[in-house]
Amino acid sequence: MSIQFYNTKSRQKESFNPIAAGKVRMYTCGPTVYDYAHIGNYRTFMFEDLLRRYLEFRGLEVTQVMNLTDVDDNTIRRSRERGVSLSELTDEFKTAFHADLKTLNIQPAHHYPAATQYVAEMIQMIQDLESKGFAYKSDDGSVYFEIDKFNDYGKLANLNPEEMVKAERVSDDSYEKEGARDFALWKGYKEEDGEVQWDSPWGKGRPGWHIECSVMSTELLGNHFDIHCGGVDNIFPHHENEIAQSVCSTGEAFVNYWLHSEYLLVDNKKMSKSLNNFYTLRDLMNQGYPADAIRWMLLTTHYRQKLNFSVKRLDEATKAVNRLREFVDKLKSYDRNGSASAKIQVEEAESSFTAAMDDDLNISGGLAAIFDLVRWGNKAMDDGDLSGSGALSLSTLMDRFDHVLAVLRMDSGLEQEFDAAFIEARIAERKQARANKDFALSDTIRDELAEQGIELIDTPEGTKWKVK
Ligand code: AMP
Ligand code: ZN
Repeated sequence: MSIQFYNTKSRQKESFNPIAAGKVRMYTCGPTVYDYAHIGNYRTFMFEDLLRRYLEFRGLEVTQVMNLTDVDDNTIRRSRERGVSLSELTDEFKTAFHADLKTLNIQPAHHYPAATQYVAEMIQMIQDLESKGFAYKSDDGSVYFEIDKFNDYGKLANLNPEEMVKAERVSDDSYEKEGARDFALWKGYKEEDGEVQWDSPWGKGRPGWHIECSVMSTELLGNHFDIHCGGVDNIFPHHENEIAQSVCSTGEAFVNYWLHSEYLLVDNKKMSKSLNNFYTLRDLMNQGYPADAIRWMLLTTHYRQKLNFSVKRLDEATKAVNRLREFVDKLKSYDRNGSASAKIQVEEAESSFTAAMDDDLNISGGLAAIFDLVRWGNKAMDDGDLSGSGALSLSTLMDRFDHVLAVLRMDSGLEQEFDAAFIEARIAERKQARANKDFALSDTIRDELAEQGIELIDTPEGTKWKVK
């Protein structure tokens, strides 16, 4: 059987066939870096991690892009409230985000483009849309996408064409489905934007949120790629608008599979900043909940089902992770040699895990296959029936499963955030070393930082650094 995913666009499960055989290009909408991400956000990022890890388990080579929204209504508002520059604010939360991903053992994406690095390309796409007749300028120097010009507008979110509000427009980045109308590609400068502004053919201003993802995805993955993900709240208007922008600008198909994860809830309400019912990773870890339990809790409910956050679930998660770890430890120290080779059990476990996960990432089915194997293996070891080579093949399979679950070897503590002052000091030492022509020392400093996941970029304005 082939891998099947529920495609939001067709509202049914479809066989997954990547555009290039064996290779998957996926774009995952990233965080808006104006605050710590909450564990509701991490539910979506965890689903994307599971998706990627499972595709890799199935032998596919995945290229993942995750953007960082570092300019939008929220980031600008917060930086003004705090009295700091936009980049000061967003740098702090970009760093925190990368540390959280490490803590949760989420694989790093291959690219983390930040919106502010792609404004020139955004202006280009908007000009393109304007020249093709899909966009128009308003009196305040903003540019809007005219949804009437795109026949497929509303197909992703299944909008009723009768309900779309014609001849009106919306400049906010977020709005409700009922209020579908022309949306801002470029926002003319307003007083409240402070220092945040770029020159453009329409005067100074800044990009809208939706154009950011159309540009960064196509720049890094090509006009037409395989998978685009996010939480269900991204379906409308964000992803609907991305499709409109990308298809109308490139004239090509945009994304083949749209996958969306359901909400993490608190007392049956969406966990969100606006409802102030959220927990950050740090909140939970400061209360003594280990990272592996949080990972397990977020991972083990099917991504299209709502998940109610509870402390009880975290306790159960700890037990489940411990059960797997104890099993693997026991296999590794098993020193008897019975007659059971475990061949059939290993084959069965792998095939039922794969069959379940192929079915739109049915994680409960996948875990049932693993825990059946654990039960059988524990008994075979307790009875001394298991052969030495059987123990080895069980532990090899558990390692393969752990490429997907990624809990066996993860630490339970909080990852260090990168210490910007330390990195800056090392960069200064390297500059001095280069001035002294001590290139060996300069290389050592670069290599040491690289080992800690920091990449140095030499620019005409000096050396910059980023998290790899
Ligand atoms: P944001 O930083 O608001 O742009 O959100 C980042 C990601 O988290 C988006 O893909 C959202 O759809 C997702 N998200 C936000 N709240 C939740 C939630 N309570 N449960 C699951 N995903 C969420
Ligand atoms: Zn996006």
